[in-house]
Parts: sequence; structure tokens; C-alpha cells
Amino acid sequence: MMYYSTKNAQNRVSLRQAVLQGLPADNGLYLPETLPRLDRELFIRLPQLSLPELAYEVAAPFCVPDLPEDSLRRLVADVLDFPLPLVELADGSRALELFHGPTLAFKDFGARFMARLLAGFVRDSGRKLTILAATSGDTGSAVASGFFGVEGIDVVILYPKGKVSPSQEYQLTMHGGNIRALRINGSFDDCQRMVKSAFLDSGLQAQRQLSSANSINIARLIPQMFYYFYAWSRLPVAVRAAPLFSVPSGNFGNLTAGLMAQRMGLPIAGFVAANNRNNIFTEYLAGGGYHPKPSVQTVSNAMDVGDPSNFQRLLALCTNNLEAIRSDISSHWFDDAATRRAIREVAETQGYILDPHGAVAWLALQKELKQAAVAGRFYSAGVFLETAHPAKFRETVEPEIGRLLPVPPALQPDASYVNHAVDLPADYSRLHDWLLDTADGSCTSTVSASAAGNSAEAASGSRGGNVETSL
Ligand SMILES: *Cc1c(COP(=O)(O)O)cnc(C)c1O
Repeated sequence: MMYYSTKNAQNRVSLRQAVLQGLPADNGLYLPETLPRLDRELFIRLPQLSLPELAYEVAAPFCVPDLPEDSLRRLVADVLDFPLPLVELADGSRALELFHGPTLAFKDFGARFMARLLAGFVRDSGRKLTILAATSGDTGSAVASGFFGVEGIDVVILYPKGKVSPSQEYQLTMHGGNIRALRINGSFDDCQRMVKSAFLDSGLQAQRQLSSANSINIARLIPQMFYYFYAWSRLPVAVRAAPLFSVPSGNFGNLTAGLMAQRMGLPIAGFVAANNRNNIFTEYLAGGGYHPKPSVQTVSNAMDVGDPSNFQRLLALCTNNLEAIRSDISSHWFDDAATRRAIREVAETQGYILDPHGAVAWLALQKELKQAAVAGRFYSAGVFLETAHPAKFRETVEPEIGRLLPVPPALQPDASYVNHAVDLPADYSRLHDWLLDTADGSCTSTVSASAAGNSAEAASGSRGGNVETSL
């Protein structure tokens, strides 16, 4: 499989190059040249396959032979070693719980897959790699956990000061070692802009081999297709014909992966892009044009994105045509008050605890199903993606449900926690200088005591450290 740039279809590269490079030099985004239709026979077998077996079948057309078959089998088994429940609520909607990985958010799928893929590519190249990532919270934690201890890779994570939750900050800053957290005095968009500037800075690139772990990296999107196939295969046969998926969206990586799965033949009848007040996509679908805006802070902060980085991919998958996008995707947005009410209502009436992102997705699903009923559109089932564990957002969830949530060990700083973050202003030249001064060489230091003190994170870290790199 070759990968092309959305800015220039002639610009084609291998999986290795697409993953190592992250972003093409022409400022487009890599997409697979084709989305192979899977055999009908495979769809019949999917319900019998385990998650790693299913993931292998989906990933193989994109990865083999760049990655040998047996390496891919080991890789998916290693990455997908946690449960993926599809939970039916009393109202008939289904929550696809993507938050059972080591950092309790769906980004574990992408980050773990990418870390293991990159580890092998880097080892083969013999050249050290610096991963740069901007995060509004969960990306950074998942990337930190997924890459912790991976040899030959330094990870630099930029996060907006005061705009991530305390447990997110803990997960970003606890590792030390090859994981370097930069606390930026600015917004998530500032962080994203600084990262983008670094990727477009050829002077810097000459001195550092940089790659991205944001969802602009195609290695993040491949594993995000798995759970759409898996969810479909775990639906009862009677409702498998035409499901609707509601996707809580920020940078639209998750939704892009869903579209890719649909293009491979998965019978998804439609998607709902669920947004918070950062509603540029809802406005775009409504015909108002695409107008990036500064992000505004909400309780579903992993969706606080003012200029979704995967928008170009969505366009490319829909032949750059608004009507084509509308035929597959609808979009609704909800403010914080509605989000909080949904958390309260679903807890009271159905006994299910939503996190703020899942709550927006649940709301969007309800709204779309109502509109579809009025318009005579048929969906056989409604699935919403639950992208984070509710305890990650306890500050928002607990007041609504009227009780405390038990804190999972992965979120709990213990006595030995040291915040390893370094403060920087929202200024690219400062990042540039810091990268040249700091982010090289010294990452062979021993694992910090704080990381070892946390069982869940330490376990995932040491898995990363002993990663099977026989690619
Ligand atoms: C990142 C994230 C999202 C948004 O996903 P995108 O792929 O950026 O659209 C939603 N929910 C949570 C919890 C996230 O971490």
C-alpha cells in the first residue's frame, strides 16, 4: 500500500515514510491510496474473531508487506490486550467503551499501535527520532504511556497550561525519562500551531528527525478503524444492517477512521459528528462555509479544537464535495449545560455514567435519531463512542451524578509523583531553541521513580520498554 498527500496525489510514499515523517512536506495529510473492500466472506466471519484477529484482517492491507505478517499479528495482539465492551443502555442506544486501555481513553488505540510500529522503523533506520505532539489532554497521556521507555524515541508533548484536567496533567508529566512534557502558556491551538511550525521548519528538520503523534499521523488512524468493525460485529444480527455511529469529535481523526472503515465495505448507514461549542464542522455542514476559529474551553476539553486537523482528509474521502459529506455525516453540537444535563439524566434514568465527551455523543445520537424518524430515514441501531473513562472528568461528572466515582489507579498520583513539565511561552522560536538545546542525547536516563510508583502506567511503560521490535 502506498500513501498519498491530500495536497498532491503524485506525492506517494511507503507506510514507513508516511509514519516516520508524519506530515508531507507539501503540508497535506497522508491517506492510503486505496481503501480495499474486504471480502463478504470476511464480514460473515468477523463475529467469531477476537479483537486482535479482527484487527489483523483490517490492518493487513495497509501494513503488509512493509510489516511482515507475523510481526503484524504480534503487534495487534500486544496493543489490543484490553477489553472493548459494547454496552446497551435502557434507551436502546449502545455505548462503545473505548476507555479500557492503560490511560483510560480511546487514544490508547492509536498511540500504542503507532509506538510499536515506529519502534521497529526507528531501530531499522538507526537514527534517533523525536516525536512532537500537541495535546488537549488525552492524546498526550496515551502517547506518553505508549512510548514510555521505547528506545531511540524521544517524545515531546506540548499541552496548554491550566486547560487540561489534573489527572490528565498527572498522566502527561509523571513519566520523565524519554517523555518530555512542555506546559505552554497558551491554548491548545497555540500548541498545535507550534508543532506545525516545527514540522515546516526545514532548518530544524536537518538537525532532528521529527515525527508527529497527533492524529495527523496515519499510524493513528489505522487502529482506529478496528473498533468500528468490532462494534458492528458485536451487534445482534437483527440490527447489523444499517447502524448509525455518533462520534465525539475534535480533530476528527476518529470520524475519519470510521469513514475509512465504511469505504472498506463496513455497512455503516451514517455518522454523526458530535461537537461541543467548537462547532465549525456543524456550521460547515449547515452550509456556512469552513471557518476555523480560536478554540473555546468546554467540559469536553479533548474536543476543544478550532481548526480540526483531519478536515482535509474528510474532504478527500468525500471527493471534496459538501453534498457527498452530507450524505454520510450529519452534525450536532451541544453546550456545557446540555452536556451536564445529559450526564445527570442518563445516570438517573438508565444508571449509566457518561463522561462529558460520551455525553455529547449520546446527545447527538438522540437528536439525529429523532430527526431521522421524522424524515423517514432508517437506522437499525445507534452506537455512540464513549471515548474516556468518566473518572477522568470527575470534576464535571460527580456533581451531576451526586456521588463520588472510585478513582482508577492509572489516574491517581501517589506520594512519589514528580511533575516533570517544563514551562514555555506560546512562541515557536522558544520551542525551536529548546528542541535544539534539550531534546537530544540525554534521554537514556533511568526511568523516574514516579513512573515506577504507579502500577498501571508502569506496567504499560515497561511493555513499551520491552517492545517486540522484530518488524
Ligand atoms: C481526542 C478525543 C476526542 C476527539 O477525537 P478526534 O479524533 O480528535 O476527533 C474525543 N474524546 C476524547 C476523550 C478524546 O480524547
